[in-house]
Amino acid sequence: MQRQPLVIANWKMNGDRALVVTMADALRDSAAQHAGVSVVVCPPAVLMPAWQQAAFYDNVQLGAQDANENSSGAHTGEHSLALVQEAGASMVLIGHSERRQFYGDNAKRIAAKVSHVLESSPMTAVLCVGESAQEREQQRTFDVIAQQLNEALQNIDSAERLVIAYEPVWAIGTGLTASPEQAQEVHAFIRNWLNEKFGPSGANLQILYGGSVKADNAEQLFAQADIDGGLIGGASLVPEQFVAICDAAQ
Ligand code: PGA
Repeated sequence: MQRQPLVIANWKMNGDRALVVTMADALRDSAAQHAGVSVVVCPPAVLMPAWQQAAFYDNVQLGAQDANENSSGAHTGEHSLALVQEAGASMVLIGHSERRQFYGDNAKRIAAKVSHVLESSPMTAVLCVGESAQEREQQRTFDVIAQQLNEALQNIDSAERLVIAYEPVWAIGTGLTASPEQAQEVHAFIRNWLNEKFGPSGANLQILYGGSVKADNAEQLFAQADIDGGLIGGASLVPEQFVAICDAAQ
């Protein structure tokens, strides 16, 4: 079975209503160029309704940058799966390295969040994994990735509605990109891990690369056998850049 290319925009804590409109317009105007690519935009939660309004009839999915592992209750400032789903999301990023580093997303919470998405919603979980610069220097990349996958997916036994994003921490927002060969090596490792855990359906999951993907390096990265698209931060805030990246995934 062939894997569909997938490109996800992660706006992080950036963007505004004006960007919602210019991005939706740019994606609509270029839709034919990347018709074979599944495109998802994850704006900040408060901009999700604006996105739904701007792109309601377009073939672009809406995603959430995170969702709480509880269904409801006294969690000031958090969003439940039901809330992001009501806002129109069909995907949720889980375990982004910024959340792991700064917002208390430890292994236990990430496992709970993945389970919650898969058990309590029809949405797809995009699990982010990646090693730090130090872990790479110490040649622990594969161990770290295997551990993160093991921890996050320990309670999951079917490879459905799951996407993996490999994002080396040292490449996020730094302008440093893993070379296509470095990325491919880790993607192949992840695919093999998924095959061992879930069988052929696991081996067929989409694995995205993230970390300073730009219009000028996307094509080489996406040409790798096990790279099925990208999770795009900085360049997803610039409509021409993001459109060019979607085109490169076609
Ligand atoms: P970047 O971010 O493209 O700005 O490096 C990627 C990400 O954090 O998902």
